[in-house]
Order: sequence, then structure tokens, then C-alpha cells
Amino acid sequence: AKGQGRGTCCYFNAEMQSVAEHKLKLEQDLSHAIGAGQLKLLYQPLINAADQSLVGFEALIRWHHPTRGVVPPTEFIPLAEETGLIMNLGDWVIEEACRAASQWPENISVAVNLSARQLVLPALPATVNAALSRYRVQANRLELEVTESVFLEDTAGSLDVLKRLRALGVGIALDDFGTGYSSLGYLNKAVFHKLKIDGSFVREAAGNRETVAIIQSIVQLAKSFRMTVTAEGVETADDFTRMRDLGCHQIQGYLFGRPMEFERASELVHGTQNR
Ligand code: C2E
Ligand code: CA
Ligand code: CA
Ligand code: CA
Repeated sequence: AKGQGRGTCCYFNAEMQSVAEHKLKLEQDLSHAIGAGQLKLLYQPLINAADQSLVGFEALIRWHHPTRGVVPPTEFIPLAEETGLIMNLGDWVIEEACRAASQWPENISVAVNLSARQLVLPALPATVNAALSRYRVQANRLELEVTESVFLEDTAGSLDVLKRLRALGVGIALDDFGTGYSSLGYLNKAVFHKLKIDGSFVREAAGNRETVAIIQSIVQLAKSFRMTVTAEGVETADDFTRMRDLGCHQIQGYLFGRPMEFERASELVHGTQNR
């Protein structure tokens, strides 16, 4: 039994070491990824529920790793947050999204995801403002998406940064609402213009009346704060009619389009314009 224990112990250590090495390698690779042009934004359409017209896109990052292929953001964003690389990466995303917006008509918005850690930087509003001016993009065409996790650490500082961003005229969306640390208190902070209902709720609503009731109350609550409500993760025509009829203003999900390359997004923009 003792031998086995030791064996288990050493095997465990070796595995831990290889996990750590893998992580370290990925971190090193990530630090070069921006400069090497391996990062790319894809754009997922955002649809007006009432008439199914295109209102904008959410920018979603992809990393084209030279040997590993496409690494999903769920794998490298946490790594970037741990190492602080998220600061550079986040600035690059803002810059790139503004560049895309500058190529599209004024009625098309672009949403960008922010990590909680980026909100700890007092310089963020200046960075956003500089990118908007550089590409001559109106502030109200840019939306910044944050999750409730921003309120876990440095609440006062983050709230101040959010307020200063809001004062620039950019939109602030509360992302993934209903997952994690949901507290209705956050809605009362007067910084959010939009609430995004998490896709897991949307899909659960298909067979669950309690979930429908929860979504109903979320929509009511958001509307009482004059927030726009977006339903994420809409995959089927049923999801769409259900969420529309529950009062969601905007819809996002595979039903209307997967995250796509800038060129395809542009085709969609122009196709919509000419219709
Ligand atoms: P998120 O902000 O909640 O983005 C929505 C995710 O759901 C995206 O995954 C999107 O591809 C996926 N999705 C969209 N429609 C559907 C649908 O109908 N069904 C299903 N099952 N999924 C759908 P993705 O692109 O893998 O991104 C995952 C997460 O990574 C994002 O979740 C966001 O938290 C983070 N992320 C992505 N890009 C960035 C970025 O530029 N910066 C930061 N900080 N985080 C990012
Ligand atoms: Ca998002
Ligand atoms: Ca989301
Ligand atoms: Ca999410």
C-alpha cells in the first residue's frame, strides 16, 4: 500500500509538472501571439427581435496557434488574465473592433468583451477614447461587455472606470446574466445599458416553465431600469419566438449566424443595407 501511495504520488507529480510545463509554454507562445499576428476577431451577428434586422456584431477572439491550431478563448483568456497579458490583448481587441466598426455603416454597433482585470486599469477610458478617435467611430457604436465578476474585486475602482466609460458615451452590457454571482444589486448601479441573458437559460427555457418564469422576471426588471435585453445562444426558431415573445429586444445565436470572419460580416452588413 505504501509503494502504491508513493507511485501515485510520483505519477501525480509528473502529471502536474507536465501540466505546468504545458501552461508555461502556452503563456510564452501567447506573449508573442499579438505581435506575430496570430490573434483574430470573429464577429457574431446581433439581431433586432422585432424585424430580424442586423443591429451589430459581438467581436469574439480566436488564436491561430502555429502548431496547435485554433485555441479557444475559454482556454487562453484565463491564462492571459493570470499573467497580465490581458492588458495588451484587451487593448488590441478594442483597437481591432474599432477598426472593423469604422468600415461599417453608423447604424451597426460592435460589442467587445472585457475582463474584470482590465477594469482595474484607470487608463482604460483613455485607451477606448483614443481608439474611437483614431478610427472616427462614434462612441455609441461601441459596446463593452462585462460579467458580474467585475464586482468581485476592487468594486469601487471598477465601478468608477465603468462610469467614466459610460460618460464617454459607450454602451456597457452586463454579460452572462443569470450565471455565477448574480446579484440584483448590480443592476442598480446605473452603468449598464444592456443585459445579456446567458445562453444556458435560453436553451433551458425550451422545456422548463420555471426557467421561463425566471426569464420573464429578468426581462421585467431590466426594463424597469430602461436596459436593452439581449438573449444569447438562440439556436432554434422556437428559442427565437420564445425569447422575442418574452420581451427580449435583441437576439444572438447560431440561428442567425455563428461568429464569422470580418469579410463575411461585411457581406452581411451590405446585403442587409441593399435589401
Ligand atoms: P461570451 O462573451 O458569453 O460569448 C458567447 C459565446 O457563446 C461565444 O463563445 C460564442 O461563440 C458562443 N455562442 C454564440 N451563439 C451560440 C449559440 O447559439 N449556441 C452556443 N452553444 N454557443 C453560442 P466563444 O467565442 O468560444 O467565447 C467564449 C468566451 O470567451 C466568451 O463568452 C467570452 O467570455 C470570452 N471571450 C471571447 N472573446 C473575448 C475577448 O476578446 N476578450 C475577453 N476578455 N474575453 C473574450
Ligand atoms: Ca460576451
Ligand atoms: Ca455571454
Ligand atoms: Ca460567457
